[in-house]
Amino acid sequence: MAEFRRVYLDNAATTPVHPEVIKIMVRYMAEDFGNPSSIHAFGREARKAVDTAREHAAALIGATPREIIFTSGGTEADNLALRGIAEAYQDRGKHIITSPVEHHAILHTTDYLRRHGYDITVLPVDEYGMVHVEDVEAAIRPDTILISIMHGNNEVGTIQPVAEIGRLAKERGIKFHVDGVQATGQVPVDVNALGVDLYTYSGHKIYGPKGIGVLYLRQGTKLVPLAYGGSHERNRRAGTEGVPGIVGIGKAAELAKRDFNERVAHLTHLRDKLIKGVLGSIDHVRLNGHPTIRLPNNTNFSIEYVEGESILLNLDMKGIAASSGSACTSGSLEPSHVLMAMGLPHEIAHGSLRLTVGRENSDEDIDYVLEVLPGIVSKLRSMSPLYADAVKAAAVQRT
Ligand SMILES: *Cc1c(COP(=O)(O)O)cnc(C)c1O
Repeated sequence: MAEFRRVYLDNAATTPVHPEVIKIMVRYMAEDFGNPSSIHAFGREARKAVDTAREHAAALIGATPREIIFTSGGTEADNLALRGIAEAYQDRGKHIITSPVEHHAILHTTDYLRRHGYDITVLPVDEYGMVHVEDVEAAIRPDTILISIMHGNNEVGTIQPVAEIGRLAKERGIKFHVDGVQATGQVPVDVNALGVDLYTYSGHKIYGPKGIGVLYLRQGTKLVPLAYGGSHERNRRAGTEGVPGIVGIGKAAELAKRDFNERVAHLTHLRDKLIKGVLGSIDHVRLNGHPTIRLPNNTNFSIEYVEGESILLNLDMKGIAASSGSACTSGSLEPSHVLMAMGLPHEIAHGSLRLTVGRENSDEDIDYVLEVLPGIVSKLRSMSPLYADAVKAAAVQRT
């Protein structure tokens, strides 16, 4: 009997927490548990740790520490960015530009803003899920106050032309927010080079803890907070600092910067091996997302004549953790909004499989997937009447 492996290939949904992150978090729960606002030694120790974490969180994206707001995660940071800017700049206009391939944290927030009198333009994307800067330019109006476009897509990995959009936004005096939850740690991020005013990232997508995120807010940018309370985070996000989470994301950011080149090289190697292997060993399969301008950890395939969910269950039985698009939509049988926006037909969008590699994956993990996956696909296809019809039709065509 073959040995049973456990292979985690769902790093876009969440990443395993780095051991150094766990170690420092435990210290700020077990020993140095003070409230950073307290003036005694316990409080001062916690304050020092939050300050250090803020420096690392800023350095990872080329920001200054005072421009960093710690939130409860990527979702809250996205909400704070959009709602906070919309309210702060409503005297200038109520028009916002975004894309159809954003995470639900953006899409559902713009839905909320639309219900509250804002006008939202959703740009088109091309077959790779990419936004074009000319379309952004064409959508700009005198009352446009905000553009929000993600950096790297969580489902198909396509990287957006953020720097070009940033230049345009700056020229027109429009605030620019970028959801960089997937891109951070995988793509070089410098908020000044990218010309962004707001940038979101999250702890648990960069080998840090869940429940902690960062919103970068360019100095001088107005923002209305979501919650009222104490004067924490320079009055931009009230509530006692979540010290263990903050030191966790701080450590994760420090390691992401320190190990950047090595990590990206490792991920890119595994990703390309996986893409080559899948396209070479299974027929009627296509790679979704841009072939080259994509996140180093992302693969997303449409495998025709099989349900994505069936592949997932079969992979799970072999110890392989994968996903069919975004974790938020799996569990429902709705096809992915990203694949639909890219113009994929329903039946192809349904057969999508996302495998996202991480720093802990090895060549052997990829070899194992490539050993197991073709067999699963042919087993499922042998039970599919659609596949039988397609094979028959192809045979008729040949005669
Ligand atoms: C995961 C994710 C989020 C949400 O971040 P949380 O910390 O889980 O709330 C937002 N945007 C993108 C692109 C993501 O991948």
